[in-house]
Amino acid sequence: MRIVIVGGVAAGMSAASRALRHDPKAEVVVFERGEWISYGACGLPYVLGGDVEDWQALVARTPAQMRSRGVGVRLGHEVTGVDAGAAQITVLDRATGRTTTEPYDRLLLATGVSAILPDWARTDLAGVHVLRDIPDGQAIEKSLAGAKRVCIVGGGYIGIELAEAFRARGLSVVMLEKAEFVAGRVLDAEYRGRVQAELERNGVEVRLGVSVEGLTGKAGRVTGVQTDAGLVRADLVIVAIGVKPNVELAKAAGVRLGKTGAVAVNAAQQTSVAGIYAAGDNCQSLHRVTRRQVHVPLGLTANRMGRVAGVNMAGGSAKFLGIVGTGIFKVFGLGAARTGLTQAEAEALGLHAASVDVSSTDHAGYYHDASPIHVRLTAEKGTGRLLGAQLVGCRESIKRVDVVAALLHGRGNVQDLAETDLAYAPPFSSVWDVLLVAADRLG
Ligand code: FAD
Repeated sequence: MRIVIVGGVAAGMSAASRALRHDPKAEVVVFERGEWISYGACGLPYVLGGDVEDWQALVARTPAQMRSRGVGVRLGHEVTGVDAGAAQITVLDRATGRTTTEPYDRLLLATGVSAILPDWARTDLAGVHVLRDIPDGQAIEKSLAGAKRVCIVGGGYIGIELAEAFRARGLSVVMLEKAEFVAGRVLDAEYRGRVQAELERNGVEVRLGVSVEGLTGKAGRVTGVQTDAGLVRADLVIVAIGVKPNVELAKAAGVRLGKTGAVAVNAAQQTSVAGIYAAGDNCQSLHRVTRRQVHVPLGLTANRMGRVAGVNMAGGSAKFLGIVGTGIFKVFGLGAARTGLTQAEAEALGLHAASVDVSSTDHAGYYHDASPIHVRLTAEKGTGRLLGAQLVGCRESIKRVDVVAALLHGRGNVQDLAETDLAYAPPFSSVWDVLLVAADRLG
């Protein structure tokens, strides 16, 4: 059994490890076009901000460690074609420029996503960057030398995490966002407002409703961002306006894409073409609350899809049952989290949703260092079926979102949450935790 994997980060490496664990006799080969494998891309902003010591710290397993476990790792090898009929791929060795073909019994496409780069950003001006992988991070690090003012285009979670990193490095930061709010559409307006206020409280200049038209430069280096509201001076520009799934190989192989534009897979991570699997950010997944296919490229999903694909490619039987749209990010002293649907999302889907907002403290008010926490709980009117939750509060406190996520997986209702036996002691929560209060009010 020859298992060939394209892409060596979260999904690809999880699949490689699981496949070998399931069938130690299988030959598993990973082709990665870059020079890094098996690392936590989620940690990239924290290396730039100085919270994590260096890039190497993000690496879970080095190529040497993977090879010692029996995984064939080919770095600097880009897969340029798939011939599903002949069950072989074409591989370009970037160092030598040589192209070869490689046979497979099972093929996994774990190719991730790419940053969306609008025309105005397609420039060879120095100081213009995206952040997707370690080399991107290293390039930003290099550009930081001598930089004083950074302009982040895009107010999504990566832009927000980077804003904090650059403020920690002493830079002046301006964030440009086309929409009238930051934090994408992942939170309802009130909760996005809290995120924006925290950015501004920490010195990030947030400009909303601004469209970028171009970049200005001098002597080969960026000097500013031209917008419909004037010129924003900057000596470093980050483009963080979204991502698109890397589906070129899937298309070449005749694999069906979903309505989201990402690869369509079944619960076994099989694509529409026999012998070809897909996992990770390049795939869509089932949203268990809406029963619709969605494209939500996040780390746990990628790792989990990879594991499932690995087991199945090696002859086992595993299923990926879907997601409930859980996400979390840090913004200076706060955290923001969501799971399920926001009120706005539920309404857009035509659901009869009701939400309740509760503001309290993360633990008993009489115990020191109690901090504010804000929770919105959303449920279906009439049935009480839980639809989602949003939380903004001090960092650790918002992991409460996981309680609601677990209930959403089981299609729980408000009553289930209200009756859940949550942990209580004054340093950790109030006796009636903010989630229980919200469930009680909504029930
Ligand atoms: P990727 O990590 O994108 O890996 C795909 C690999 O495939 C790449 O190395 C690429 O070079 C390789 N490849 C592509 N095409 C080819 C080819 N033709 N031939 C050979 N190799 C190829 N998620 C969270 O859940 N929480 C977070 O806090 C979070 N923070 C993030 C912060 C940042 C800055 C970024 C960039 C991502 C963050 N994510 C976060 C998302 C998370 O990192 C991804 O979901 C995860 O890395 C996806 O793994 P993957 O293996 O599917 O794809």
